[in-house]
Amino acid sequence: MNWSEMISPRVQAIPPSGIRKFFDLASGVEDVISLGVGEPDFVTPWHIREAAFYSLEQGDTMYTSNYGLLELREEIANLLKRDYKLEYNPKNQILVTVGVSEALDLALRALLKEGEEVLLPEPCYVSYEPSTLLAGGKVVRIKTKAEDNFKLRAKDLREAITSKSKVLVLCYPSNPTGATMDKEDLEEIAEVVKEHNLIVLSDEIYSRLTYEGEHTSFATLEGMKERTILFNGFSKAYAMTGWRVGYVAAPEEILQAMMKIHQYTMLCAPIVSQKAALEALRNGDREVEKMVKSYNQRRRVIVKGLNEIGLECFKPKGSFYVFPSIKSTGLSSDEFAERLLKEEGVVVIPGNVFGESGEGFIRCSYASSLDNIYEALKRIERFIKKL
Ligand code: PLP
Repeated sequence: MNWSEMISPRVQAIPPSGIRKFFDLASGVEDVISLGVGEPDFVTPWHIREAAFYSLEQGDTMYTSNYGLLELREEIANLLKRDYKLEYNPKNQILVTVGVSEALDLALRALLKEGEEVLLPEPCYVSYEPSTLLAGGKVVRIKTKAEDNFKLRAKDLREAITSKSKVLVLCYPSNPTGATMDKEDLEEIAEVVKEHNLIVLSDEIYSRLTYEGEHTSFATLEGMKERTILFNGFSKAYAMTGWRVGYVAAPEEILQAMMKIHQYTMLCAPIVSQKAALEALRNGDREVEKMVKSYNQRRRVIVKGLNEIGLECFKPKGSFYVFPSIKSTGLSSDEFAERLLKEEGVVVIPGNVFGESGEGFIRCSYASSLDNIYEALKRIERFIKKL
């Protein structure tokens, strides 16, 4: 069988995953400390797990509405109103999805015509490019710089726009850099968005993990709600990655287009996970605050530690990643990460995995215990001294 002829060209066009390659390498090394993974090291808070047990006990084993449980959508609407004064109708402007991952895929497939361009400020989360390619779109990357603390600049956005540009993906707080953008920064972006009639996919999955200043939700900016698709979920803030539940809030027409796909592909997010998510929204704030406090403490330790070792690192205000420069070592990101793993058993992710502008940097996740972080810092220091 000639498999290359059998597999769809869209799938063939997806580049191999740089992150997966790295975890494969790590699986053969002993005594590993990982600053590689992008998920909370906390177990989902007990009261949320308990709600799931109860749900199963009650016999919740069926499909829900394609939109998701109405009471969950109502709670999501309440949250968006409470935190951002954003009004969304839970009946037709909010959709519960199988994580933000599904929601992003739905939005891109619902919006893109063949060859239309998706603007990706990078370094960025690894799934945006494959999802765009699978939806028939074309990726246009916009490089952000360490000097700007990896914020997207309006000027750079303007320069990247062509007549084919349709969608801008924003992810603040950012994976992989931890960068945030404040209201003034985003207002400049909003002006360009309006000028060029773009639609914004605003991935705000790390919004609750903001340690300095307040998170600005892009849809709150003047004129932006009607052209923003707002993504958020439960994976990061509530330590619920494995439950696979997220949501999207959007103008009705866009939501209905996404729904056309969702109803035939996923049908609905798992009911038990939706019940757990409901409990998270109703009673989860205190646990989130505890986890945020802990991440914040680790953030200070890791940023200080990396800078003291000589790996220059700005203090990111959100998510649970730091993105230090390794340029002082003379190694490429790949070399640094591979050698650090082989010689000292520390997993970090080479920055170039997230786009060309990540070359010369590594991503370290501090969703790892303080003990692990201290030990990793010690090993990284020893590694650099040996170079
Ligand atoms: N968006 C970003 C920026 C992420 O970092 C991740 C996961 O790492 C996701 C989306 C996926 O989230 P979910 O678990 O809700 O599918």
